[in-house]
Amino acid sequence: MTFNKVLENVNTYEAGKPIELVVREYGVNPKNIIKLASNENPYGTSPKVVKKLKKVAKSAFVYPDDSMYELKEALAGKFQCEESNIIIGAGSDQVIEFCVHAKCDKNSKILMAKTTFAMYEIYGKQTGATILKTPSDEHNLDEFREIYKSQGADIIFLCLPNNPLGECLDAKDVYKFLDEIDKNTLVILDGAYQEFATYKDKKKAIIPKDVIKKYSNVIYLGTFSKAYALGGMRVGYGIAQQDIITNLYKLRPPFNITTPTLASAIEALKDEKFVKKCIKKNFKQMKRYEQFAKLKKFKYIPSYTNFITMCLGDFISKDIAQKLLEKGVIVRDMTGYGFNAIRITIGTQEQNTRVFEILDEIVKANEY
Ligand SMILES: *Cc1c(COP(=O)(O)O)cnc(C)c1O
Repeated sequence: MTFNKVLENVNTYEAGKPIELVVREYGVNPKNIIKLASNENPYGTSPKVVKKLKKVAKSAFVYPDDSMYELKEALAGKFQCEESNIIIGAGSDQVIEFCVHAKCDKNSKILMAKTTFAMYEIYGKQTGATILKTPSDEHNLDEFREIYKSQGADIIFLCLPNNPLGECLDAKDVYKFLDEIDKNTLVILDGAYQEFATYKDKKKAIIPKDVIKKYSNVIYLGTFSKAYALGGMRVGYGIAQQDIITNLYKLRPPFNITTPTLASAIEALKDEKFVKKCIKKNFKQMKRYEQFAKLKKFKYIPSYTNFITMCLGDFISKDIAQKLLEKGVIVRDMTGYGFNAIRITIGTQEQNTRVFEILDEIVKANEY
């Protein structure tokens, strides 16, 4: 059978390994599996959300509120914008998909950093668009400028902070860059880890209401999957001027968000205290990884997120990731990104201690 020609260039997204697979393949007791590969919140679902989910279970037979009014209202309150400035997606991933399909076809160009969120390229290639990447792995706005000036772009992705490396541009530099971009170029500011970056350093804080007031061509994306601990519910959002939102809406499937998902996102927004506590613990635990790396003379990228990317000296990251996996610790090997490094989601105190123990064992075993 023949398929749409553009698909020949599309890679399939490889998600972090699920717990079930590690149980099946390595016979590890599910209780001992530590999942640090997908940047989920390791402190679990907020108890208030769990309580709410039980309540909505009996409404499973009715279609969800397709206007998503209550969630939009809560987000509009949080971000001080109008409901008409908001679109909700099944993960912010779905909003990225809407953006790319709303703007691009085979004649389009999409500009991004060399090493950034894999889905930008996958959605881009689905439309047949050309992917332009900066030479540097981390975001370098001068390189973005240079390529934009010489080749133009229909979409520019800025991942703030960047997954999978963890670095983050200063907001003032981002705003200056936005001033230089043509109003027909859609700039996507992916704020999947903004809560973490803002906590660590106020200079990184992107303020969606300021952005959309000033720029008609910019969309800010947020998600409930990371700091808000709802990865399993699949919900994210985009904030932009109404013209962008109206056009993205044309691509939205009906009822793209489920009833339990809507309820849990609304409840999660009421429990900011839980989120703050988790973020605080995250950076406390991050320090342990930094200390561990220094002790072992491993290089790492200072991170504004809930993960850390670490090079393991002379060790092959693929082997290390495999050894960790066999002991029940799931991390992300970065070989596919062209890095001899692993990306580890910052876990709980106990989980991280276990990671250090295993890494220590591996290092010691190699010191003959
Ligand atoms: C996790 C992530 C997202 C979106 O995740 P969803 O679960 O689809 O909301 C978007 N961008 C980046 C950079 C991410 O790491």
